[in-house]
Parts: sequence; C-alpha cells; structure tokens
Amino acid sequence: MSRSKTCTALVLQVRQSGEQNREAVFLSREEGILKATLFGGPKSKLRAYVSPFHEGILWYYEDPVRNTKKITDFDVRHWRPALRESYAHLMAGSALLEIVLASQGSGGPWQEAFTLLSETLETLSTIQEAGIPVIVTYFIWNWLKVLGLLPELEHCQNCACNVRPDEVVWYSSLEQQAYCSSCGEPIQRTERERLFPINGGGRRWVARILELPASQVERYRVDEQTLAQVQRLGTELLQQALSRPISYGDTLNSRRSYL
Ligand SMILES: [Zn+2]
Repeated sequence: MSRSKTCTALVLQVRQSGEQNREAVFLSREEGILKATLFGGPKSKLRAYVSPFHEGILWYYEDPVRNTKKITDFDVRHWRPALRESYAHLMAGSALLEIVLASQGSGGPWQEAFTLLSETLETLSTIQEAGIPVIVTYFIWNWLKVLGLLPELEHCQNCACNVRPDEVVWYSSLEQQAYCSSCGEPIQRTERERLFPINGGGRRWVARILELPASQVERYRVDEQTLAQVQRLGTELLQQALSRPISYGDTLNSRRSYL
C-alpha cells in the first residue's frame, strides 16, 4: 500500500530515466538522501520545479513493497536563479552538490547537513564572483565538521608541543597528522607533495568560520596566500574522506583574476 509523505528537500541531481521519466536525488532535512521518480513528459510543470539547487516542500508516494518513491508535488521556496546565470557560480554550486552526493548527504546529522548546504547555496547566489573561493572554502571546512573529520592542528603529534599562534603547522596527509614547524622541517625533504602548511592566520580563520553562518563569512578578511593554504588542506582532507578527487572547475582560482 502506498503512503503519502512530505519533507523539506533540496534537489542535488536529476537524471533522465527511460523515455518520459526522471530520477531525482534530494537532500532532505528530515531523512537525508532521498531518491524519487518524476513521471511525466516534457510538458509536466514539475520538470521545471525539480531541478538542481531548487529547495522547497516535497510531496511523494512511497511504495514500501517495491521500495519506490514517486514525486507528486514540489513547492519551490528557493529558486536561486543566479546560480545558473554565471559560469563561476554554476561551477561552484555544482561542486557543492557533488561533495554532498559523494558523501551520501553526510550520513547524518541531516538537519545540520541540510542547513549548511541550504545557507551556503543561498549566500553563493547573492555574492559577486570574487567572493566565491571564500564561500567554497567555508563549505569545505564546515562539511568536514559535519562529517566529524576536522584535523587536530594546535598540537604537534610528534613532540606533543602546543604550537605557537604564529607558527606554521605542517599537516601530513600520508600520516594524517600535524607537525610543528621544527618537527615538520626534516619531513619536508621526503614527503613534500603530501605535506600541507597552514599558518597561524589560516588556523584562526578556520576556527572563526566554523562558528559562523555562510552569510557572515565575508566579514572576516583573509589574505590570498592564507586562503590558498586553507583551501588546499581542506580539499585534501575531503578527498581523502571521499576517496575521490573533487573538481571545482576553476572556481577556487577565480579570485586571482579580480585582484
Ligand atoms: Zn613537534
């Protein structure tokens, strides 16, 4: 017997399925990743509604015997058209959706994951292109927090010292641990490609943005070199967690062309 259900959901992906139908993947606030079929031909109004970045109230029928879900309505509350009007915004938004899909919506807690994605996309759709690298980096680090994968960067794992506030810390992705500047120095000769420096300003910036909603991030200035370090380490940690490369297009470099 089919059951009618409703939830708050954001469209992550839509794929053609056969001649007429589409398979949509949502992140829902209540249930996490949700896959459902959209029946109907090109004239169906729902086809325009169920499209990546759109967020709203989803109604669907669930058939527990066949384990299928059928979309019956989608009341879009956030359309975010700006994400389709510039290539840089589209690439950045798509990268965020890819990260969420690749990590199965985080595996829970759903509400936290949903709020982070929703607020970051909302901010992304209102900012200038020059601000995109900061917002994407904000998302990477906050998503690591949702996944429970933030690295320890305030203590050296080798000599157990507390690193100084202005000290450069070296994170080894091979050992998956951080070293103070003196312990990191000899390793630089052998593992250069797998060592990620992060300066004191970068660690302070990360600590701040982990406490802020996406809309507030631009208030905290960060210099370009520090941002590049934070991006590089965050991307490496996320790629390690997902066991796959993440493509941002040229999203993370767009800042340079605006300076
Ligand atoms: Zn040390």
